[in-house]
Amino acid sequence: MSSNTPGSDESIFDLAIIGGGINGCGIARDAAGRGLKVFVCEKSDLASATSSSSTKLIHGGLRYLEYYEFRLVREALTEREVMWSVAPHIIWPLRFVLPHHKGLRPAWLLRLGLFLYDHLGGRKYLPATRSLRLDRHPAGAPLKPIYTRGFEYSDCWVEDARLVALNARDAVEKGAEVVTRMRCSRAERKDNLWHLTLVDERSGAPREIRARALVNAAGPWVADVVHSVLRDNHPAPVRLVQGSHIVTKRLFDHDRCYIFQNSDGRIFFAIPYERDFTLVGTTDQDYHGDPAQVKISPAEIEYLCKGASDYFKKPITPDQVVWSYSGVRPLYDDGASAAQAATRDYVLKLDAPESQPAMLTVYGGKITTYRRLAESALAMLAPHLPAASKRPIGWTGKEPLPGGDFKMTAFDAELARVKERYSFLPDVTARRLFRAYGTRIHDLIGTAKQYPDLGPVLGADLTEAEVRYLVRAEWAMTAEDILWRRSKLGLRLSAQEVAAVQECVARALAERQAA
Ligand SMILES: Cc1cc2nc3c(=O)[nH]c(=O)nc-3n(C[C@H](O)[C@H](O)[C@H](O)COP(=O)(O)OP(=O)(O)OC[C@H]3O[C@@H](n4cnc5c(N)ncnc54)[C@H](O)[C@@H]3O)c2cc1C
Repeated sequence: MSSNTPGSDESIFDLAIIGGGINGCGIARDAAGRGLKVFVCEKSDLASATSSSSTKLIHGGLRYLEYYEFRLVREALTEREVMWSVAPHIIWPLRFVLPHHKGLRPAWLLRLGLFLYDHLGGRKYLPATRSLRLDRHPAGAPLKPIYTRGFEYSDCWVEDARLVALNARDAVEKGAEVVTRMRCSRAERKDNLWHLTLVDERSGAPREIRARALVNAAGPWVADVVHSVLRDNHPAPVRLVQGSHIVTKRLFDHDRCYIFQNSDGRIFFAIPYERDFTLVGTTDQDYHGDPAQVKISPAEIEYLCKGASDYFKKPITPDQVVWSYSGVRPLYDDGASAAQAATRDYVLKLDAPESQPAMLTVYGGKITTYRRLAESALAMLAPHLPAASKRPIGWTGKEPLPGGDFKMTAFDAELARVKERYSFLPDVTARRLFRAYGTRIHDLIGTAKQYPDLGPVLGADLTEAEVRYLVRAEWAMTAEDILWRRSKLGLRLSAQEVAAVQECVARALAERQAA
């Protein structure tokens, strides 16, 4: 992490970023890679808010075509293979099955949409769209027999919260400072610099930093930062839209996903999840509460169960739900009437009064397009930042994220090498670890020669070595950080095991502090 000596110019950051979600960390990575001195503060854990509650798709967004969002769809489609190539461990291709029926948009319109989907954004490796006879295809087997025809197309999956942590990790390896559990309580312009007051959320200790430019990437708190932290009375055009997902035990035995349309016209997905589960979501409704308290309602659970039951032979009932999560989209308020019609595109607002330090506010966006959002943000801020050109614009789409330094199409071959090298790992563990950490698995395993060298197993296949790695390299500070964001092992651990993980994290943190 970079040094920060108060009182000297060394202590002045080029760019301070409020918010450790995908947008804050994505901008940090890009800026640090270009040679800027970057600071990120996150009041909770990395990706603790919207960036861990997405549907986890790197996708063009088939339905956005209906809203004529061609710019967004083209950019998002292009990002699929770019992102897959820089993070082939945490991003992989998926095939989506769209069963066709009378209540749906007409087949010709879907064909047109899918044709555009195939051709709008470059596609080299992802397979093309095709028609399916569901009455003869394994993807039709779990569905009601009325669904005889459909389409199949490609998008990608992303481990959303891990993507955030890896962007932060890379930013730090390129000189940035990223601090979590550190809230920005005040930011003001003084002497042509931004002065930020920060509060350590655990100890209450204050900290001050200065920066030449500021980014407000606070996601659902973007307006809160405008009004309470910057004390700016102008309205912040953000529309908070809640989206919830349910997780059930595995509903079908193949690796394709489904895209379904509900009777109200909304689409939702059923996606194979964490090997033994199925993810069903999402809902879309305006939200007016505290974003930190967002929670799925019984009505949303009912809605998703009913929607899925319209398609699957076996009905899905609320008692089958083993986990759920809810998040808030911080969309740019474009005045659309329905929540699902509000633009998913990002909007960046630059505030740079004459001879005053600049500030950029991020509204909206998608995980899919965070890299392009970061490039646009830095292009807008460039006149207000020191010239820095360690790497050319676009570098984030060419250099791998930590652990992703292998060919995007070579996951299985690389995994086979990992299994051979660490033959003491059970197959499922080798696969899970390589999916999560890619080539950084070697840092995690270190000098271990046999399974017990990784320390006690705390629950499922989580070892002490993995906990220590996450504390050391990925800002983990609680069991929840590890079980619900750096991994989804929370789905498999008992309360007692969670307590053991918490104790292990506390020990690892104490040892780090003492060192
Ligand atoms: C239900 C749902 C499904 C979605 N599905 C997809 C999908 O499949 N594909 C896709 O591409 N996109 C999807 N999205 C959109 C995507 O998740 C969001 O656009 C993205 O995560 C927003 O990231 P962010 O960094 O702006 O916000 P966040 O991830 O919320 O990050 C903002 C951070 O700022 C921090 N913060 C706030 N105030 C302060 C402060 N004062 N000091 C310090 N830190 C502060 C917060 O703690 C938070 O961690 C989905 C969103 C939802 C809700």
